[in-house]
Amino acid sequence: MLTEAPIIMPPDWNLPFELMCDASDYAIGAVLGQRVDKLPHAIYYASRTLNDAQLNYSTTEKELLAVVFALEKFRSYLVGTKITIFTDHAALKYLLNKKEAKPRLIRWMLLLQEFDLEIKDKKGSENVVADHLSRLVNNSNTEENSLPLRESFPDEQLFAMQASDPWYADIINYLVTKKIPEDFTRAQKDKLVKMAKYYVWDDPYLWKHCPDLVIRRCVPETEFHSILTFCHSYAYGGHFGAKKTALKVLESGFFWPTLFKDAYAFCVSCDRCQRTGNLGPRDQMPQNPILIVEIFDVWGIDFMGPFPSSNGYLYILLAVDYVSKWVEAKATRTNDSKVVLSFLKEHVFSRFGTPRAIISDGGTHFCNRSFEALLKKYNVTHRVSTPYHPQTSGQAEVSNRQVKQILEKTVGPTRKDWSSRLDDALWAYRTAYKTPLGCLHIGLSLANHVTFQWNLSIGLIGRLSNLIWIW
Ligand SMILES: [Zn+2]
Repeated sequence: MLTEAPIIMPPDWNLPFELMCDASDYAIGAVLGQRVDKLPHAIYYASRTLNDAQLNYSTTEKELLAVVFALEKFRSYLVGTKITIFTDHAALKYLLNKKEAKPRLIRWMLLLQEFDLEIKDKKGSENVVADHLSRLVNNSNTEENSLPLRESFPDEQLFAMQASDPWYADIINYLVTKKIPEDFTRAQKDKLVKMAKYYVWDDPYLWKHCPDLVIRRCVPETEFHSILTFCHSYAYGGHFGAKKTALKVLESGFFWPTLFKDAYAFCVSCDRCQRTGNLGPRDQMPQNPILIVEIFDVWGIDFMGPFPSSNGYLYILLAVDYVSKWVEAKATRTNDSKVVLSFLKEHVFSRFGTPRAIISDGGTHFCNRSFEALLKKYNVTHRVSTPYHPQTSGQAEVSNRQVKQILEKTVGPTRKDWSSRLDDALWAYRTAYKTPLGCLHIGLSLANHVTFQWNLSIGLIGRLSNLIWIW
């Protein structure tokens, strides 16, 4: 038969597949085929010699090994389709009915269950090819032949992962069946019943009513790492400290009880964070507004750099709104007054309206005639901060230092592409930080102005004494 019909055909995905398997004392063989107009066509031939351990298998075990080998070899063709297997039917039948099967056989049986199989008795003539292959003794000892036959299927690991219960298994069980694990102590029972009130099971997800009135999805252990990676290390993450990272996870609508602990462990083990050093508490943004001003009324402006050249860019020009801490930034090639003017017009005045005041240091790019002329035209006060007046320079410096650190982590100070990563860093900054009003930057920019002013005045009542210094 090998000499008659050895033509290998491409598979027709609409037709069922047939497998012909056979085993000899020293080798196993298989042919993947399809029947086109009742004529068998071969798609793939495979055979291999048995290793020392497999040589000791019984004949029936070798037959089954041939089937397992074929399913593994042709897996990509066979998953999800109907397969007819021709093999020594009696041998398989014996194995399948065997009461006290060896662990190896049980594993094989489980593997077979993944496929949609029909096992047929081989008729000698039809199985000649596989028979022949299994009798070919391959002396060339190729690399493939020396490798052990893989008896575990790729999906097996997935099943194993699902098999371990997530942390909320007891909660779901209780919500659905009102059953409490029998080995629970009295205290554990009470705790579970009390806790379950805050959870809602909506197949396939468990949701938790959190104390801040947000409903979050409970995630299983298997998702912890990828969520933390997204919220810490990716462009959106910005390599913030443990607490900020955990808050980002919460902002993203996820919950698990050991979140803060896991975030801490994650940040501590983050390679990039260890190299650049973490943001300490001293670097945190002061949350108290220091002026009675409306949002976007006072901006601090500053240059950062020079950095290593990135597409010709050397500096970052930065403007920070004093009330909301909203940051606008742009990569620039020079640090002269021209870029300052166009930046103010493009990124501040046109987007947020003309402010009442701008605070800068005493550098010549800020203190010059054209800068003053522009500010005069729009009726903006220019304040120059000095080292002797820490209140004026303090906030701009803290904000700048923080953005700079975020840039260093997101961008990598030695990287040539830092200028193109600036926007990612800004996005990370804006989504991570609470404003003095307790809402995110990103939400703030959309917030109702009236509500904002009302909240602001409430928050400022106690602080009137140290305000007004700027006016
Ligand atoms: Zn990090």
